[in-house]
Amino acid sequence: MDQKSSKKESSPIKSSIYNIDKLIYSIKDSWKNQQDEYQKLFDQFLQYCKSQYPVFNIKFTCSISGEWLEQPVSFMQCIIEKKHLNDCFDLKQILKYLIQNNSNFMQDGYIQCPLCRSKSHFEKDLPLIPNFFFQQLRQQLNDKSKPITYYLSTQTLIPLYPGFLGKEQFQFNNQIQSVFAQQCDTQQNFSSIKKMTKGNESFKYSHLCLLGNIRIQIPVRGKHCRHLECYDLLYLNWYMLYRDQKQFKCLFFGCQEVINLNELQLDQELYEIGLKGFNFSSDFIFNQQSSTLLDTYSITNYDPHIATYKKLVPTTTESLNYIKQIYDLTDRIYSSTKNQELTDKFYEHPLNGDFNISKDQSTNCKVEIPCRCIRCDKVNVCDLRFMSCIINQVQYPENRNGVKAYSVSCPLCHNPFSPKKRHRDQSVHEQVYVDTKMLNFITTIKNFSLLNKEKYQLFLQKKLYLSLRFEELESPIQELDQFNLKLRCLITNNKLRNPIRGIYCQHPEAFDENSLTNLCATGQIDFNLAQCPQCQSSIHKLTHDNILKELLSQLEGDFDEVQVFPKIKQIKQLK
Ligand SMILES: [Zn+2]
Ligand SMILES: [Zn+2]
Ligand SMILES: [Zn+2]
Ligand SMILES: [Zn+2]
Repeated sequence: MDQKSSKKESSPIKSSIYNIDKLIYSIKDSWKNQQDEYQKLFDQFLQYCKSQYPVFNIKFTCSISGEWLEQPVSFMQCIIEKKHLNDCFDLKQILKYLIQNNSNFMQDGYIQCPLCRSKSHFEKDLPLIPNFFFQQLRQQLNDKSKPITYYLSTQTLIPLYPGFLGKEQFQFNNQIQSVFAQQCDTQQNFSSIKKMTKGNESFKYSHLCLLGNIRIQIPVRGKHCRHLECYDLLYLNWYMLYRDQKQFKCLFFGCQEVINLNELQLDQELYEIGLKGFNFSSDFIFNQQSSTLLDTYSITNYDPHIATYKKLVPTTTESLNYIKQIYDLTDRIYSSTKNQELTDKFYEHPLNGDFNISKDQSTNCKVEIPCRCIRCDKVNVCDLRFMSCIINQVQYPENRNGVKAYSVSCPLCHNPFSPKKRHRDQSVHEQVYVDTKMLNFITTIKNFSLLNKEKYQLFLQKKLYLSLRFEELESPIQELDQFNLKLRCLITNNKLRNPIRGIYCQHPEAFDENSLTNLCATGQIDFNLAQCPQCQSSIHKLTHDNILKELLSQLEGDFDEVQVFPKIKQIKQLK
């Protein structure tokens, strides 16, 4: 250390250039018996940050290479000096980087952090220590590398929802903190409600917001709701903010609760289950044997998008591992915060090319997670799970085994992907992005037969709204002996031809389906919040009255009012 010039020659990094694994081993070995000391350093760091940076974002990527973190590490000196809490390196990647740039960062027995240039001495081992903060956060995500927002004061982590609210989620920081800070009502947790409503059977559970139909990040319900289905806290607040509303009637069928924004109840169990599942998945199965809710993608051994690409032998360990690897990659790309940026950039130009998402050309499957590469200039997309197979093998050529027709190019525009070799190369997963606008279109419209280019253009111009939602129930008129009925739609006052009602309506008066479809298509009415003018109940879901429809079809001529006898299936004209 005192003989500066000789240190320069004998840098331990230089001699390790061909033996990075040995270097990693020796660094990890030096961590033994130091765990308590490192933990203490991180505790002090977090304590300090509480007042300085109460909220920050973490991406779980190596700050020097942009690749995923396998073993998160930091320079000891940066932690001591309390620098860049949300930046971290991957052990192998930072070592490669230091080796390639040896002379810039290692001089005279000192090593510099490439980010903040803080200097530390080194003798035998490099002063890199395991980053406990990142490790502990990642455990809460079941090792999934989704980007999160972290609230230090409440120690709450929220996945950054890709696409829908984007940066707008930050305006709800207070709501997030208050819902996590309040005392949790254990009666409102998944297991208590499950016991009451489902007993011990297996069942499917969909982790979608009852109001917004998007994957839930923070599951909440009304104070007295007694159903498993939830709302997403951020979506709910965002939706109500733009409508200047504070409460609404719960949309779950049969629930009479009036939900007040100030009294939302967090379901802590479902929140944790959601964190550990894939971000792109909202389908769960309750498995009675293990008594847990399982993400269906974590137990699947067949996926048509992936099988199209690679000959998979179902249930072999190799296939299962391959599928898991592809899902991990898919989830990482799906969760990337770059998606929104790249989508906005794409739509700066007019839409170009054909558009077919009900049948993907390569896989013959419906596109559920629309993506394209950064070189694509046409609007067409393919499913991200299929794209993940291709970019996985670009980076790992050994995965070409068993591939039907392998390609290293984008299946849409045929431009080749380039693997990452040096640290300054762009990562392969960054050469693909999810089209967040189209993703919203698909989840909003749901009905795949309506997903064409014309509809999409209307959607982009905010001229296409949710289609009417139906749940077929028995008609309330079948129990009645007789009643008089004005043949007018309760909402539009148009002629009543195809009678429908809200699922809660118990009166014979009805709405006309065609008139409502028009209202809906032009966005003049928001069915999520609209009420029946007759009984004031929610009409977010509707039901067809086939009994009344059939009776109306018996009428010959045009009438304004009729007398109906449902039990004997007769109808009489009055006016
Ligand atoms: Zn640093
Ligand atoms: Zn409810
Ligand atoms: Zn492309
Ligand atoms: Zn009604």
